[in-house]
This record gives sequence, structure tokens and C-alpha cells, in this order.
Amino acid sequence: MEYAESIARDMIRPQARFFDEHEHEEPWEFEKFIWNTARKKLESLDPSIVVPEEPFMLQLHMIEMISWGDAGFFLCLPWPALGGNAIFTTGTAEQKDKLAKRFQGTEPTWTCMALTEAHCGSDSSAIRTRAVRDGDSWVLNGEKLFVTSARKAMVDSQGVMVVWATVDPKAGRAGIKPFLVESGNPGVKIFKLEQKLGFRSSDTAVVILEDCRIPHENLLGGEDGKGFKGAMKTFDSARPAAAANGMGIARATLDFLKEKLEEQGIKIRYGVPRHLLSSIERDVIDMEAQLRAAWLLVVRAGWLVDQDRRNTLESSMSKVKAGEVITKITQKGIELMGPLGYSRRLLLEKWMRDGKVIDLFEGTGQINRLIIARHILGYSNKELK
Ligand SMILES: Cc1cc2nc3c(=O)[nH]c(=O)nc-3n(C[C@H](O)[C@H](O)[C@H](O)COP(=O)(O)OP(=O)(O)OC[C@H]3O[C@@H](n4cnc5c(N)ncnc54)[C@H](O)[C@@H]3O)c2cc1C
Repeated sequence: MEYAESIARDMIRPQARFFDEHEHEEPWEFEKFIWNTARKKLESLDPSIVVPEEPFMLQLHMIEMISWGDAGFFLCLPWPALGGNAIFTTGTAEQKDKLAKRFQGTEPTWTCMALTEAHCGSDSSAIRTRAVRDGDSWVLNGEKLFVTSARKAMVDSQGVMVVWATVDPKAGRAGIKPFLVESGNPGVKIFKLEQKLGFRSSDTAVVILEDCRIPHENLLGGEDGKGFKGAMKTFDSARPAAAANGMGIARATLDFLKEKLEEQGIKIRYGVPRHLLSSIERDVIDMEAQLRAAWLLVVRAGWLVDQDRRNTLESSMSKVKAGEVITKITQKGIELMGPLGYSRRLLLEKWMRDGKVIDLFEGTGQINRLIIARHILGYSNKELK
């Protein structure tokens, strides 16, 4: 972990502002460094990530640490990521093996996952992208939005995109299946890159699939694939990962604040009765308590993954709490630093912009609250929506 810390501190953080101001430029130096040098040392970046022996908890710590340097850089890491996670969760042994081989080459490689469409993101059962069987092939047509690292996976590398499409629009979620689309497929077009509020070092693309023909064997999970349930299971580990991504931003804010307060001679007096503390001390202690509470939920959700136990409830809880805590901590950070906090001279305003997305992607705060409520109250998707 010390190695990840040095990368976050010495390599990522110094470039954070540049890539915030130069959206769509690739942090190639970092990506190649990770691929060529650091990958073997950072255990959780090893291609063995696609086999279950790798502790998920270790990945969460690494994600938090890299995100402390810059949260968007975490999404730039050449590793299996969200698409790889879907392949690991739902793929056949051959598909997993093929994925592992992609990550043993000489050039950085990425994966991505395309679920969201213009009319649906939260309600992914309403997907309209069509997959039609044609002999030994599938033909995909549709448009996907906000696909993280689509350009990296499909244009910059020999990567792969997991596309969720319906084989029968009338069947709802039962008709949805995941497909593997490989880089170089002429039916895939990266239509445009989004201009975003935050996470500007990470690219997010609109992807158009036009008569995109793929072999039948690229049906993820094969004939008996887990379809829609597979997509949902992907989120059980993706949500704690997104929460850990945000935890890095929140810790960066708190570390920075405490450093600045110390420079002004203000030391936080832990253990002193609350009514004797200054208002700033109370604020910082409250922020630290919230950060710790959120991190413990992330750890709990990750531990359940490592135990191979169901964690849908805990995973949503960790994501909701992280989204709330990051927003509060980054806003408070700006407040405590006054106008300087609002200026681009410091990274505080960037951390606030970056932090907001944790409550949006991998299921919004509202959707994760719905999932939590369904689990606690024992309602089905139809009964509580
Ligand atoms: C930076 C970034 C990266 C992303 N990366 C990816 C990616 O790699 N792949 C991918 O497929 N998608 C990605 N997304 C898309 C993201 O997952 C969706 O934007 C998200 O799921 C919300 O879906 P939506 O945009 O359709 O919003 P909508 O579903 O239209 O929601 C709009 C608002 O309504 C609320 N809402 C919706 N339904 C309910 C309900 N039943 N009850 C209460 N409130 C409700 C939502 O919480 C939200 O506040 C990314 C988004 C961003 C911003």
C-alpha cells in the first residue's frame, strides 16, 4: 500500500489540475507507467484480478489510495474495471481466460461497460438496444450514453466492451443479455466524448452500435448466461468500489484541511469534551467521524464479497453513505477555507465537483435507497418502485 501511496502522492496528485483543465487529454505517461512498471507491484492491478483468489478488500484500499491522488485517475487505470468485473461475474471459463490474456500484452488495455441509454439509466430493464440472432452471429443496434473509458477500450487499446441489449423488448428484464464487443469492430462508433462537471481526467463517451456483428460465442455467460441478474450482480462489487473511489476524495479534503489548520496553529484536540471545543474542531471531528462511518460500510460490503456472500444491501448502503459524506465534507472544506476554497488555486473546488458523481453513477442515491428499503422491508421491485 505504501507503493500505491507514493504513486498517488508523487505522480497523480501533481497532474490532477492539468487533466481537470484539459479534459479528453489522455494521462498516457501515468497509464504506461502503471502498465509497464507498477502493475506487477500493485498486487490488485495484476491480471489475476479476474480470478477469485485476489482479495477484493485489497482492491478497495488501493482504489481509495489512488483516488486520494485523483479520483478520475482511478478510472484511467489499465485494468479489467467495470467491464472486466461483469465478465468475471457472469462469463464462461473461456471468456474469463480470454480477458486475462488481454491483460498480459505489452500495451495498456481497458474494458468498459455500456448499460445506460438516453431514456433509461436507473431503470435498466427498459433497455432498447437490440440484439438479433443471425446464424452464428448476433447483430447489435442501439445507442449507449456515458460509457466510461469507451474510447480507451475500443480505440486506444485491444480492449473489450460489455454491452447490455435486449433480445426481446416485450420480455422486459428477462430479455436482457450481456454481449462482448471487441475493439476494432467496424459496427462500433465512439460518437462523442462528454464534457463533464468533474472526473475530467476520465473519458465518458456516447457509443453508437450500428449493425455491430459479433460471434455467438460473445454472448456473455453463454446460452445459460445470467442475463439481467448478472448486470445487477456486477453492481454488488462495483458500488463499494465507487464508494471507495469517493472515500479517497473525502480523505484528500480532510488531510488538506488539517494541514492548513496546523499551519495556522490550530490543532484538533481529540478527547476534549465537545462543549469545550472550538467550532472548527467540532466540524473537523464530525467530518472525520462521518468519513470513518462511510469507510466502515465500504469495508463491510467488500468483506462480504471476499466471503462470497450476498452483499446487495451492504453494497447499496456503502454507496449511499459515501455519496452523502463526500458531498458534505467537500462543501464544508470550501466553507472552512473561505473564498480561497472557492478559487481554482486550491483543489478543494475540484474535489467538490468530482465528489458529486459518486451519488450518480453505479446507481443514483435515490435508486440505492430504494434497494435498501426493499431489502429491509421485504418488498419486491414491483411492490416498491
Ligand atoms: C461520470 C459518469 C460515468 C458513467 N459511467 C457509466 C458507464 O461506464 N456505463 C454506463 O452504462 N453508465 C454510466 N454512467 C451513467 C449512470 O450510471 C447513469 O447516469 C445513472 O444510472 C442514472 O441514470 P440516468 O442518467 O438515466 O438518470 P435517470 O434514471 O433519468 O434519473 C434521473 C433522476 O431521477 C431519479 N430517479 C429515477 N428513478 C427513480 C425512482 N424510481 N425513484 C426515485 N428517484 C428516481 C434518479 O435518482 C435521478 O436523480 C455514468 C454516468 C456518469 C455521470
